[in-house]
Amino acid sequence: MKAEGDRNLDTAREQDRQWRGASRRPAEVIAPARCAHLRVDPRGYPIIAVIPQHPGREDYGSLSEQRKLVLATFDLCAVCATPLRDELRWQVTFDDELQHMGEQPRFSEAPVHEVCALYAAQVCPFVSSPYARLGDPMRKGQRRPDTLVIAGFDRTAEVVGHDSELQVGEGILMFEMAGLGRTHRLVGADDARAAYEAALGDDAPMVLDDAERRLIDILCAPTPEGEDAGGVMAGAAWLIGAAFCPQIRRVQAMKRFAQARDDFYFQVAANALLQPDLMQDWESIDDPCIAAASSWLRTRQRLPAVLEQWQRDGARRVRDVNGRRPRIATTAGAPPRDDAAIRRRKAAEAALRKGRRKKR
Ligand SMILES: [Zn+2]
Repeated sequence: MKAEGDRNLDTAREQDRQWRGASRRPAEVIAPARCAHLRVDPRGYPIIAVIPQHPGREDYGSLSEQRKLVLATFDLCAVCATPLRDELRWQVTFDDELQHMGEQPRFSEAPVHEVCALYAAQVCPFVSSPYARLGDPMRKGQRRPDTLVIAGFDRTAEVVGHDSELQVGEGILMFEMAGLGRTHRLVGADDARAAYEAALGDDAPMVLDDAERRLIDILCAPTPEGEDAGGVMAGAAWLIGAAFCPQIRRVQAMKRFAQARDDFYFQVAANALLQPDLMQDWESIDDPCIAAASSWLRTRQRLPAVLEQWQRDGARRVRDVNGRRPRIATTAGAPPRDDAAIRRRKAAEAALRKGRRKKR
């Protein structure tokens, strides 16, 4: 009989074997059409929307909180930066983690399209290895996961600032997801590749309107000064409503906006709520980020649910000089009961339970 240490070693070797070859060189992988505009680093890795990307110092091991705020505000995919629209929104989990996260699980990552999640699992070193990107508890080696569970949700229920569990005193944005619709359980490189190829077959280029195109062009390129555009775009996001994101001031990366003189970003955002006509003037302003964000805002038929919620929260917090609150268009109220979504969620949960039993 083998000692426990040997058994663990055997399991680890088996996991290594299953995931060997999971991370392929980007040149070997056909990119989804919707990722075609992403710049690549000198090794050919796509520079995905959510990572810190000062030119030459792209950091695949980190998430930019400023970029997460921009993605939340404009409801964009954290890989390709195009809109999530009514597609399922996907998050990466490991093993049976999802079953212990409650009905509306919270993630420190911004959601992505299905094809983008599976593409990242092919080419990004930090998604493709099931051991990577697991944060400090994992790196301390308590447990090695062997299954990558990629979960698709109907909607982003809420985005809030929250104290980080990994770094004391360091606030981060959390994305609360609702309506689990489908999952991919990937137990090795072959699975991951097959799932990606199937999703790629269904992929179509994303049709963008002018305002969306402008936002994405700015976000995916360095600024004219040669800096990561995440910072300036986060500033524009504050002005059109991200200033009202709950507990946003706990997020240290927002210091520059939260501690601006006279609370400039919050005050301007409040004025924009009180006098929406102001925003029209912003569209011809010199700052390309503010101009693009305002024209995006004006041309939406319906705001993304997260931004709409922030604006509603904001309207409760601000008053004009006469003590009046802003009047904003409210489409508030609980979303209608969606029986199809409930059926999909139950099926997805049942599939997860089945997968767990099989593994034992
Ligand atoms: Zn995407």
